[in-house]
Amino acid sequence: MKFSSDRYTQMQYRRCGESGILLPAISLGLWHNFGDVDDPKVYRKTLHTAFDNGITHFDLANNYGPPPGSAETNFGKILHTDFKDHRDELIISSKAGYTMWDGPYGDWGSKKYLVSSLDQSLKRMKLDYVDIFYHHRPDPGTPLEETMSALDLIVRQGKALYVGISNYKAPEAKKAIHMLKKMGTPCLIHQPKYSMYERWVEDGLLDLLGKEGVGCIPFSPLAQGLLTNKYLKGIPRNSRAAKSHGFLQKEAITEERVDQLKKLNEIASDRGQSLAQMALAWLLKDKRVTSVLVGASSAAQLLDSLKCLNNTSFDKIELNGIEGILKS
Ligand code: NDP
Repeated sequence: MKFSSDRYTQMQYRRCGESGILLPAISLGLWHNFGDVDDPKVYRKTLHTAFDNGITHFDLANNYGPPPGSAETNFGKILHTDFKDHRDELIISSKAGYTMWDGPYGDWGSKKYLVSSLDQSLKRMKLDYVDIFYHHRPDPGTPLEETMSALDLIVRQGKALYVGISNYKAPEAKKAIHMLKKMGTPCLIHQPKYSMYERWVEDGLLDLLGKEGVGCIPFSPLAQGLLTNKYLKGIPRNSRAAKSHGFLQKEAITEERVDQLKKLNEIASDRGQSLAQMALAWLLKDKRVTSVLVGASSAAQLLDSLKCLNNTSFDKIELNGIEGILKS
């Protein structure tokens, strides 16, 4: 498979915290659109388009599909055919933390779960190691020391090069980061939900990550498609909100929300951007954000989103205008 020879000049790369790793400003997530329910021709093209445009980071988890596990299996197949000469140019991540198999060892944050889940992920993707392995969500029932020592063990076993945490609030993230540092396996990155509609990271987490030299990769930056022009005129067939297995609920698309989106869309068009491009640029304006983790159900969507990189700065009037609309 031949990829564009100027792919690395297309993309902006940002240092992940204080590590040696550079990540593309836009990374691709495989939560939706890469399962057995999806069209292999479509997602294969999305992966090609991503790499052709300098996206070197693909984010997975044990449970992505549906069915759970199928995104890793499907990604693995394409990796070993189309990307077989490019493994060393890729940062591939996986995670464990949500329900994956029956019984007491297929969920949450025990060492038993994390180690065996990563073994399964590696088998599904036919990989010797992942570049980043995350604990997917904090576990109130397992001592944090156990979960962090599982991450440390996984790196020492050579099954992951770096580790990260996801969905940890600032106080528990701080403890986890300090524990990992003491163990000699620094936390590379935190993966929180962050978008114009989801702002909790601004209450201490971003400051913590900046101070500790840990990268940040926001997920669902488009609020699962809400922050695009997609729902301005109803719910299109084939959209995430219309799919029975989609996580975006139809109920989230209220009249008030659509009015708000239309107003945001006006600011975006004044900036010469689509709403999706503005929503991504709005996250990238903060240098503590290493990369923004988008989803895409087609190559065309990804190409549209990538154009956000043409303008990631905002003036005061634009920022105040956006805040005013979000508060309305
Ligand atoms: P987004 O908020 O980027 O939503 C992606 C969806 O938005 C697409 O499927 C598509 O919807 C729509 N879309 C994307 N680009 C455009 C565009 N340019 N124009 C119009 N519509 C567009 O992200 P996701 O919710 O998919 O999350 C991204 C990744 O984050 C996941 O794949 C996963 O890797 C990670 N994640 C991590 C979690 C965690 O707990 N750590 C939880 C959730 C996600 P449609 O399908 O309707 O066409």
